Amino acid sequence: MSRNRPSPNHDDRKGTAVDMLVLHYTDTPDAATALDLLTDPATKVSAHYLVDTDGRVHALVAEDRRAWHAGVASWRGVTDINACSIGIELQNRGHSCAGPDGPEPYPDTQIAALIHLVRDIRRRHDIPDRRILGHSDVAPMRKQDPGAHFPWSRLAEAGIGLWPGPGPSDAPPVAGTRQVQAALARIGYGVQVDGRAGEETRSVITAFQRHFRPDRISGTADADTVSRIGVVDSLMNV
Ligand SMILES: [Zn+2]
Repeated sequence: MSRNRPSPNHDDRKGTAVDMLVLHYTDTPDAATALDLLTDPATKVSAHYLVDTDGRVHALVAEDRRAWHAGVASWRGVTDINACSIGIELQNRGHSCAGPDGPEPYPDTQIAALIHLVRDIRRRHDIPDRRILGHSDVAPMRKQDPGAHFPWSRLAEAGIGLWPGPGPSDAPPVAGTRQVQAALARIGYGVQVDGRAGEETRSVITAFQRHFRPDRISGTADADTVSRIGVVDSLMNV
């Protein structure tokens, strides 16, 4: 059951079809704070939906409008992520509002509500699994959300998004930086393929791990990470 809490922060999609879903956390102490921010004309931020920890869904922006959730971002060379996507905020204290134990896990009730909402959205829009992404996937230099606690594998079990699982036990030899960058770029990440293991490459590997190997986020292309990059590359480029 969703409640309307209209936000003025949206504009025209200018004919761009919706074919992507971007998931966020609010990074706020509670949903009331998040709703205030997402509906304040001064913040110029919004999302189509906010899912509270108790499973309540708030509808903020109509799906045919362009909500302002992704900011400076890119995926597969496209930078106007807001034009082609639906943005969903999940109430979560995130990294900046986290307590001493770090970011909080997502309650089952909240994830069940999210799964229900995504299935509903997909009845209206053709959104492939490979285009169900986190904010950190499309803005790896700036964003960490929805964070390592977000249960991507559970969503994949519910038929939403891709999950590579652990790589094959006969993991291939660790590829060079250039091959790793090329595979990450083919997947969609905004990374230069220049063979240099700089800050951008590290941020993108970190973003990949947040989504596809959240139990061990190191920012380095170890053998298991490289193996998973290979699996995701093949799943996304069929
Ligand atoms: Zn975000």
